[in-house]
Amino acid sequence: MSTHHLPGATVGIIGGGQLARMMALEARRMGYRVSVLAPRADDPAVPLADLWIPGQLDDVEAAQRLAESADVVTVDSEHVPASLLSDIERLRPVRPSAAVLRTIQDRGEQRRFLERISAPQPRCVAVDSVAELAEAANTVGFPCVLKSRHAGYDGKGQAVIRSADQLEASWEKVGRAPSMLEEFVPFDAEISVLLARAPNGEMRFYPAAYNVHRRHVLHATMAPAPIERSVEQDAREIARSIAEELDHVGMLAVEMFLVGSKLLVNEVAPRPHNSGHYTFGACATSQFEQHVRAVLGLPLGDPSLSRPAVMLNLFGDLWRDGNPDWMPVLSRPEARLHLYGKTEPRPGRKMGHVLLLDDDPHRALQNGEAMLDSLAADRSRNQWSSPTGSKRAAGTRLSPICIALKIGAFSRPATRKAARRQLSSTG
Ligand code: AMP
Repeated sequence: MSTHHLPGATVGIIGGGQLARMMALEARRMGYRVSVLAPRADDPAVPLADLWIPGQLDDVEAAQRLAESADVVTVDSEHVPASLLSDIERLRPVRPSAAVLRTIQDRGEQRRFLERISAPQPRCVAVDSVAELAEAANTVGFPCVLKSRHAGYDGKGQAVIRSADQLEASWEKVGRAPSMLEEFVPFDAEISVLLARAPNGEMRFYPAAYNVHRRHVLHATMAPAPIERSVEQDAREIARSIAEELDHVGMLAVEMFLVGSKLLVNEVAPRPHNSGHYTFGACATSQFEQHVRAVLGLPLGDPSLSRPAVMLNLFGDLWRDGNPDWMPVLSRPEARLHLYGKTEPRPGRKMGHVLLLDDDPHRALQNGEAMLDSLAADRSRNQWSSPTGSKRAAGTRLSPICIALKIGAFSRPATRKAARRQLSSTG
C-alpha cells in the first residue's frame, strides 16, 4: 500500500463543521478531492466537498461509504465514536486513529494517559455519583471545576463549584454524567501548542498561541505568545511527548495553563484547533494544509510565522439584527475576514473569525476589539433605544457615574500599571 497520496487522491472527512471546511479549502487548492460525511446540506464543509455523504457522525454505514470513496479518512471532531473508526480502519488509513480518539474523547482516559506519561496537569478525580463528588471535593478543594467526561467542549458540560452547597446543583448541571472534578487553576495565562506529526514521526511546531477565553469559550488568540522562550520550550516538550506517546498523525493542539513559569495541561485535541486559526493567513503553511499533508503522508510544510497575528472569534450574537455590516473589517488592509457559511446564527455559535496581521500584536488586539465593538454597535443602539430600556421602577436610584479604562489580558504590563494608577487617582 502506498504510504503517501499525491494530488488527485481523495481525503474523506467525518464531520462537516468549520474545521472540515477549512481543511477542504486547503485540500482542494492543492488538487485533492474531498468527501464529507455530515448530517445537513448546509453544514459548512458540504458546499466545498466533491462528494457529500449525508449521515450522523455515528452512522457506521455512512462512514463505510465515506471510507470507500476516499484514500485516507480524518475527522473534524474528537467526538466521532472510536468504535466506528476502528470499523473503517480495516478499509482505509484513519488519522487520527481509533486508539487516539479512544484515549482523548473520554476526559477520564485522557487524564489517566497524561498521568501515565508524567505530563503535568491539575489535580483531578473521577466521579460517578453525587456522593463521590462530595468525597472528591474534599481531596481537590474549593474552588474546583466539574467536567463531564464525554462530549464536553467550549465549557459545555462544565460547572465551577465554589462551596459545598453547590455540589448538588453542579452535579445536575453536568447531567449527572460520569465526570472529572479538577482543581480550579488560578492561571496567569492560557497558551496552546500546535504541532503536526507525520506517519514517519516527523514533527513541526507552530509558535505557541496565547489565548483569552470568555465564559469558558475562546475569544481571541495572539501569536507569538508573549511568554519566555524557556516556557515555550517546556510547553513544546510536553506536547511532543503527548504526540509521540499517542503515536498521533495529523495536527495536535495541547491547551495549557501557565502559573508563574509552571505549565499544566488542560486539554488535548487531536485535530486542527480554534487557537490555530491564526496560522491560516499568518503562517507559511496553515494548520489545515498541515493536517491534510500529515494524513496524506506528505512531507510537512513550513510552520513559520510570516507576521505576528491576532485572531478574534465572531459569534452568532453579532447577527441578532441580521447580517453585520462588515465594512469596518473589510476596509482595514491588515484584517482578513473568515466566515464559515453557517446559515443559522445562534448566540455563542462560532460563525467566523477575523485575523489581523500587525508587527505589533498588542495594537492588533486593540484594533480587533474596536472592530468587534463597531460590529456590535447597531445592536447596542437598538438596546438603548428600546422602549423597555427607559422604564425605571419608582424609587430606583441612578447609578453613580462609572469611569472605566479598557485594558485586557494582552495589555502590556506598563499599560496595565498606568491604567491602575489612573483609576486610583480618579478615586
Ligand atoms: P475546557 O473546555 O476544558 O477547555 O475549558 C474551557 C475554559 O474554561 C478553559 O480554557 C479555561 O479558561 C476554563 N477552565 C477549564 N478548566 C479550568 C480549571 N481547572 N481551572 C481554571 N479554569 C478552567
